[in-house]
Amino acid sequence: MMWFRRAPAGRPLPDDPDCHEVARVLQSFLDGELGPEDAEKVAAHLALCEPCDIETATVDAVRDAIRIQRPDIDAEDLSRLERFVDEIDQHTT
Ligand SMILES: [Zn+2]
Repeated sequence: MMWFRRAPAGRPLPDDPDCHEVARVLQSFLDGELGPEDAEKVAAHLALCEPCDIETATVDAVRDAIRIQRPDIDAEDLSRLERFVDEIDQHTT
C-alpha cells in the first residue's frame, strides 16, 4: 500500500478553485495523478462550470483518439495537447 500520493504540479488547490486553477491541474486530473482531495475539487468545479466541462470533454476525446490511433505515442503529442489546453484556457478565462 502506498502511503504517499503524487503531489500535483504547483501548489494545492484552494477549496473553491476558479477556472484558471482547474485548468492548471486538468492534465493531472485526466491522468489520474491528482490527489483525491484535489480531484474532488476539480470534479465538483467541472460539474458546475460549463466552459470547463466542455474543455474536459474535448481533452478527453483528443487523448482517447491519440491512444486509439497511436498507442505508441506519448510525450510529444501529449505536450502538444497540453499547449492546446493552455490555449483554451486563455480563451475561457
Ligand atoms: Zn470553470
